[in-house]
Amino acid sequence: MSQDKNNKIVGLRGMNDVLPTDAHLWQHLEAAIEGLVRAYGYTQIRTPILEQTALFKRGIGEVTDIVEKEMYSFEDSLNGEQLTLRPEGTAAAVRAVIEHNLLYDGPKRLWYTGPMFRHERPQRGRYRQFHQLGIEALGFAGPDIDAEIILMCQRLWDDLGLVGVRLELNSLGQAAERHAHRQALVAYFENHKDQLDEDSQRRLHTNPLRILDTKNPALKTLVEDAPKLIDYLGAESLAHFEAVQSLLKANNVPFKINHRLVRGLDYYNLTVFEWVTDQLGAQGTIAGGGRYDPLIEQIGGKSAPACGWAMGMERVLELMKEQQVLPEVEATCDVYVLHQGGETLTTAMVSAERLRSVGIDVVLHCAPDGQAASFKSQMKKADNSGAALALIIGPDELAQNVVQLKNLRAQAPQEAIAIDQLVDVVIERLVSLDE
Ligand code: ATP
Ligand code: MG
Repeated sequence: MSQDKNNKIVGLRGMNDVLPTDAHLWQHLEAAIEGLVRAYGYTQIRTPILEQTALFKRGIGEVTDIVEKEMYSFEDSLNGEQLTLRPEGTAAAVRAVIEHNLLYDGPKRLWYTGPMFRHERPQRGRYRQFHQLGIEALGFAGPDIDAEIILMCQRLWDDLGLVGVRLELNSLGQAAERHAHRQALVAYFENHKDQLDEDSQRRLHTNPLRILDTKNPALKTLVEDAPKLIDYLGAESLAHFEAVQSLLKANNVPFKINHRLVRGLDYYNLTVFEWVTDQLGAQGTIAGGGRYDPLIEQIGGKSAPACGWAMGMERVLELMKEQQVLPEVEATCDVYVLHQGGETLTTAMVSAERLRSVGIDVVLHCAPDGQAASFKSQMKKADNSGAALALIIGPDELAQNVVQLKNLRAQAPQEAIAIDQLVDVVIERLVSLDE
């Protein structure tokens, strides 16, 4: 509903406003992300939020949840083009890399953040507009880069002070290996057809892998004894998987191998992983990714290996709240300037601008009704602003060419300062308060 009962227009379901009281949390996470990508030499790519629908159909896969039922797609009424609000970032990043031939001089390590759109049922940790940090390492074939991108996640949890985020790891091998496994699965379930329920019988030939996800307890042992993909991986795939594991062990990153981990998108091969927590209920996966070597060619580029991950920023923020690892609210300014209107306002504004010119953050008092309030009520606002210093300019100060400086963090007498000394003295006071 975009109108409430009072005929007010309200925001869309599943799309959140970030209010000033929460903005500093986002800035804290974004600063941690910027530190992280710098530490590993990743550079930023920014792509449009709107793309041709065909990109996601090809890049994510027609028979995925996202493409089948979660995309915001529409026809551009001006030219009839089929467009989609991006549901994830990988397809667009790869499109841009191909379009601008970014791999011409070698592999690239890329990152991006931004809003993604999926038409899902909104609930805690699941929104229709949400934000992801995405990492894409394009053109690297070896297990070293798989390990590197996983280490990046661990470092981000550590930097944010998060604990208890567990790594689950699997290898999907290559397409031919998955094909052989699928055939073995079908043969195995055909041999035990009499034990399958109706649902599984139906899936036997359409999507036998889905039988492995059955919730029917009667099928539990049958499913447990079914052929496992890992037994169909060739020497190369196994060596890649083992190399990733030993690099993680060498860096003390614990993991659990989860043979069931497949990931939602079509294009994954070899390494896949997810980072999960038990503290966010059903939406416990905070990041996931892996290798997707076939993707670049799939989208129309020259075949090149690729891997990456995406992290849900809302889920990470919710986990930070859950674990109470939140940054302190920062002061809105260093200096709060009080005045009495008229000529004192002019001097106050000029003084504020002089301070800002040397990098000091200043809030100039401004009353909602445009009238100068009493110094007492202005001083309350100054205290609430978190400023370290208050600058007071009344008619008496103006007459003497001074301003009053008050330390808001400590009991100290107010001092009168000559106007032309203002910038130097404020800098001095702020520096000594910082020490
Ligand atoms: P889920 O199984 O929870 O639907 P997914 O497999 O669809 O996740 P990905 O496409 O791998 O998710 O996206 C990577 C990350 O983005 C997820 O691990 C999650 O943290 C976040 N994410 C995905 N969908 C949403 C959403 N609707 N709202 C908030 N965060 C989301
Ligand atoms: Mg999903």
